[in-house]
Amino acid sequence: MKIFINGKFYSKKAAKISIFDHGYLYGDGIYETMRSSNGIVFKVDEHIERLFHSAKMIYLDIPYSREEIKKTIYKTLKVNKLKNAYIRMSFSRGFGEIGLDPELCEKPTFAIIAKKFIPYPKEYYKNGVKIIVAKTKRNHPESISPEIKSTNFLNNILAKIEAKKQNAFEAIMLNLDGFVAEGTISNIFIVKKGILTTPSLKCGILDGITRKYILENAKKLKIKVKETNLSINDLYTADECFITNTSLGVMPVRFINDKSVKFNGDVINKLKRLKLG
Ligand code: PMP
Repeated sequence: MKIFINGKFYSKKAAKISIFDHGYLYGDGIYETMRSSNGIVFKVDEHIERLFHSAKMIYLDIPYSREEIKKTIYKTLKVNKLKNAYIRMSFSRGFGEIGLDPELCEKPTFAIIAKKFIPYPKEYYKNGVKIIVAKTKRNHPESISPEIKSTNFLNNILAKIEAKKQNAFEAIMLNLDGFVAEGTISNIFIVKKGILTTPSLKCGILDGITRKYILENAKKLKIKVKETNLSINDLYTADECFITNTSLGVMPVRFINDKSVKFNGDVINKLKRLKLG
């Protein structure tokens, strides 16, 4: 396994970043996870665009063009001889003296990890997974906006710990208004009376690339879609429920807390056929 860091490739053991890197010291950084299938990185331009959006939101200047970044992603795949891969690309604020001031860091640390993509077990897709509604609330958009795909992930990790304690696959966080926001690493959808509904971006969520793709394709498949506020009760009374992200694709939900939901219904089955990677 060869890891890309600031222009060079290193073995897994030799791939190291300074203890003074502000990514390590303060979680000051941004990232993207992508997936390649047969050597093609799914929605690579969208991921690069979101990376630049996150960078802008944290006042980080990426000293590379979009094209250079794309080439580096593909080079990392090539060096690792990977066609079906999980790819994690990150920019941290970089090496600098201790202190919060971003100007202490001269240049960002750019890293890419690519490894063989290992799909989730087939049974998960067949039987659906359990999710819980976490007590931990999603960060308020005016504190750390969920729009930023930040390496500062404690909000999500605290919710993930709740999920683990309850043997659940994913934890869904509510926003501070009590409406459903998103999972720790996923967006959520429900279907009710044939309408596919998902929290709107205004609910304080990451603008998921899979979410967007599902919404666009659902319209093409003549499925009615709605982006709005969802309550916990909307989840409980859904006809179908699923979560999405780049690695999961469409993952049906079987249980929400201890309540069972219908799953593998009409809409999920149609969406599952979409090429998501
Ligand atoms: N929300 C959060 C908090 C995430 O970390 C992710 C995974 N990137 C998603 C949603 C889903 O985004 P995508 O479909 O772009 O992978």
